[in-house]
Amino acid sequence: MGSIWLHDLPDVLTDAGVRVRLWDGWETRARSSGGYDAVYAVFAHHTASKTAPDNDCSYMWNGSPDRPVGAVLLDRTGLVTIGAAGATNCQGKGGPWTLSTGTIPLDKGNAYGVAIEAANNGIGEGWPTAQVDAYVFTVAAMCEAWGLDPNRDVLAHFEWVEPSCPGRKVDPVGPSPWATGASSWDMDGFRGDVAAWCDTGNQPQPPEPEPEPEDDVTDDDVERIAEAVWRRMITDPVNGDATHAATLLTRIRTDANNARTDEDDTAEAVWKRLIRDPAVGDETMAATLITRIRQDTSRG
Ligand SMILES: [Zn+2]
Repeated sequence: MGSIWLHDLPDVLTDAGVRVRLWDGWETRARSSGGYDAVYAVFAHHTASKTAPDNDCSYMWNGSPDRPVGAVLLDRTGLVTIGAAGATNCQGKGGPWTLSTGTIPLDKGNAYGVAIEAANNGIGEGWPTAQVDAYVFTVAAMCEAWGLDPNRDVLAHFEWVEPSCPGRKVDPVGPSPWATGASSWDMDGFRGDVAAWCDTGNQPQPPEPEPEPEDDVTDDDVERIAEAVWRRMITDPVNGDATHAATLLTRIRTDANNARTDEDDTAEAVWKRLIRDPAVGDETMAATLITRIRQDTSRG
């Protein structure tokens, strides 16, 4: 069983300016082999579908007989939905291929490569700018996070199949900075754009982050965040214990009051408390919880 799970992916992509959402169950979703054996490559695909993002996600992770298909879905607005932290069924047949950190054996693409599925019909549908930009940011962020060489460790599905079953796949294809008509992408061009982003960290520019609020966190903010934590803790299916939540909430309020610089510090204090806590001290669970709490508080 593979032992590598991509529980860092929400932070990796968010920090790169990619808009991210999580598909229910993503933390534990994997093919039967479990986590990845190693991450040697990022694989670029298209879905060959033309439907709403939720329909793609539902097929990839809940409905397909080959599920899970792909680690993430990049939709046409540039939003990335993360559906599986473990290995998926997306580029099994193909290779072998030697990359900068190791060789992926014949037909083992799923155990050693992370698959990005991007919404495109695959028969000449144009790629919107928001989507192609997010494709570059997403791949670049993954390369940086996992120590991959963007000039070498990024493969199209059609490249992966070349050594052992050439022509079996064509994706990704279509009108974009890297192709015209319905031809397969110029992957050297794509890799070059990813590498440029990795070199400069801002080429092309990711969306401007929201301006930081000028003021320190107020008492009202602390209360609001604490309430969101509270609601999340007592409604959480795993940690839904009201007594325990009350204790934790008291400690979190203390931590938050001690931090008191901005909302991120407050969230950070909550995070530290969750992973240190003897009953809830689980990093994976804490990561999921924190993501949801951030969503709650930003809505609040
Ligand atoms: Zn593919």
